[in-house]
Amino acid sequence: MTTLKKLYDKIRSYAPDADLEIIRKAYVLSRDAHCSQRRAEGSAYILHPVAVAEILADLKLDTTTIAAALLHDTIEDTGITLDDIKSMFGKEVTFLVDAVTKLSKVEFKTKEDAQAENFRKMLLAMSKDVRVILIKFADRLHNMRTISHLSEQKQRRIANETLEIYAPLSNRLGIGFLRTEFEDLCFKTLMPDLYEDLRKKVAMHTKEQTKYINEIERLMTEKLDMAGIPGKIKGRVKHLYGIHQKMIRQKIPFEQVHDVIGFRIITDTIGHCYDILGILHSLWPLVPGRFKDFISLPKSNLYQSLHTTVAGPGGSRIEFQIRTEDMDEIAEEGIAAHWRYKDKSSGPGKNERFVNWLRELVKEISDAKEFLEAVKGEVIPDTVYVFTPNGDIQELPMNSTPVDFAYSIHTQIGHKCIGAKVDGRIVPLRYKLVSGDSVEIITSPSHTPSKDWLKFVVTQRAKSRIKQWIKTEERSKSIELGQKLTEDEFRRHGLSLSVLKSDKMAEVLKAFTHSSLEDLYVSVGYGKISPRQIANKFMPEKVEDQPEVQKKQQTKEKQSVITIKGVDNILYHVAKCCFPVPGDKIIGFITKGKGVTIHRKDCPNLERLAIDNARLIDVNWNQSADIASSARLFVEGHDKPGIIANLSALISSAEVNITFIKAHSTNDKRALIELMLEIKNRAQLTNLVNKISQMDGVLNVRR
Ligand code: MN
Repeated sequence: MTTLKKLYDKIRSYAPDADLEIIRKAYVLSRDAHCSQRRAEGSAYILHPVAVAEILADLKLDTTTIAAALLHDTIEDTGITLDDIKSMFGKEVTFLVDAVTKLSKVEFKTKEDAQAENFRKMLLAMSKDVRVILIKFADRLHNMRTISHLSEQKQRRIANETLEIYAPLSNRLGIGFLRTEFEDLCFKTLMPDLYEDLRKKVAMHTKEQTKYINEIERLMTEKLDMAGIPGKIKGRVKHLYGIHQKMIRQKIPFEQVHDVIGFRIITDTIGHCYDILGILHSLWPLVPGRFKDFISLPKSNLYQSLHTTVAGPGGSRIEFQIRTEDMDEIAEEGIAAHWRYKDKSSGPGKNERFVNWLRELVKEISDAKEFLEAVKGEVIPDTVYVFTPNGDIQELPMNSTPVDFAYSIHTQIGHKCIGAKVDGRIVPLRYKLVSGDSVEIITSPSHTPSKDWLKFVVTQRAKSRIKQWIKTEERSKSIELGQKLTEDEFRRHGLSLSVLKSDKMAEVLKAFTHSSLEDLYVSVGYGKISPRQIANKFMPEKVEDQPEVQKKQQTKEKQSVITIKGVDNILYHVAKCCFPVPGDKIIGFITKGKGVTIHRKDCPNLERLAIDNARLIDVNWNQSADIASSARLFVEGHDKPGIIANLSALISSAEVNITFIKAHSTNDKRALIELMLEIKNRAQLTNLVNKISQMDGVLNVRR
């Protein structure tokens, strides 16, 4: 078990109480499973998963991650199944192994259009659990470290992929050490001659500069001691690929690269960072334009540090980075460091800091040109990534709205959604989500979907859920309406409602080719069957004949007059209190036993009826309907002989039928005339009212 000693020591160094048994078990299973395999250089295969596990232990990750790392190649390469792993290690380890295995199957093609897809997969894997990506990166790092044993062709392919995908992504994830090592290993593999040449030059330069580096370190240490500021100062050589890029970018030879060696000073507090900056600038003149304060303005990957360049001894430029220990940890380990700070109480693996970081990343993917250039592809132009309040990522098509988001979470959240907050601000339901938005849906238990939503939702899921709901809702309203109309009809004929549940009903249903009473009510509600037709089935034969035909016609005429929520064929009654006519603004009231009663929206009775809100229903006049309906008019005038005759003549000349007229005189010599008229529409009625009010002797006309 000596292979494991180094790994155990690393884990114990940051987690003294860690359960190492899980590590041992994972090691044994992996070793036995891989026993017949060898690495390209001839060593036992198990050394690879152990090396990957060690990299993750360097990142101070938990034992679950390290166990998963030991097992990461077993599914792909050996007879071990996910079920085996699950029974031995439980869900978490299994999830990680499964996710890493799947991610390994992603072909990271270097074609530009595939990059976006690759990155999307990485991002989604990461959003579920960042440890998946960390295992994947550690795996790739070890493969790159041992790449020289592969064929040249394979080396080039893997190095290219690493340089184009893994290096920029690790930079984006803020894992500084990964990025620099990836880049240098790729540089070495892809351009061995240039690499070797530069390595020698840098080694020589560093050797020449040793005295100088020591001098700076000594001087700064002394100054910090005098000022009573704790701090470690360390000279370091910039990574080779970084120097190479600089030479290419600025078209300069190595000799003119002045920041080959830089210094980093690590201290305890932010205050001391600025104190140290002050000391530096008092010792040597600063080079203008080179100071950068990434402490007050962190980089998007949350990197924080002060950068400055001074003209040091002999006028040569020296670069300094000043930061706290925390900042240094984040600079080197990025996302891994954020993940470690997860607050155990706030859900599985998601802490606020990490989620904020992920959001920034996602926002940047949507608009950062620099990053797009780095990965060379356009990134997912038709997709937005948004966050739930828990920090989970939801992937939605472009132009998705909070309603789409709500339905993507749960159908009931969609149905009851009344509003939404994006990054804490209330937005309209038709707001178009952008990547990085943190979306919170406001629901109300009594709320129901609106047909209007169909105008702006874009996801298939939201569309079908809303349509389904409307369909169900219309059906239940039709059932309610149909039942009321049917029961009313039965009462009118003195039929007991109990027959509706009797055996006879089965025959009746058959006669109407319906399979359930509910279906029959739906047909009544839609006006396809009249309640009278049903009642007749329960009555003696003779009643049936003539009136049935007549009734049918009447019903048919009435049916086309109004629509409820776009559904026509609705049976209705006109309210006797306000007699609406086509063109009037109207509303329906589902009565108990008399179907839907249509009132004018300005009917004074509505206020009383509206108490029972649930029974009010939107209705519209059918645009094509232009048929006679009853209207009532009250005319008030001087009680003079002939007023009724004149009134009647005027109405007749307007080709309006009078179906009822009643007049009486008041004590103060006024006549009150009540008229019932057959009216085609509101325009005709308004016209008539105008004419009547201009009549001689008429004081007032109202409906
Ligand atoms: Mn591997």
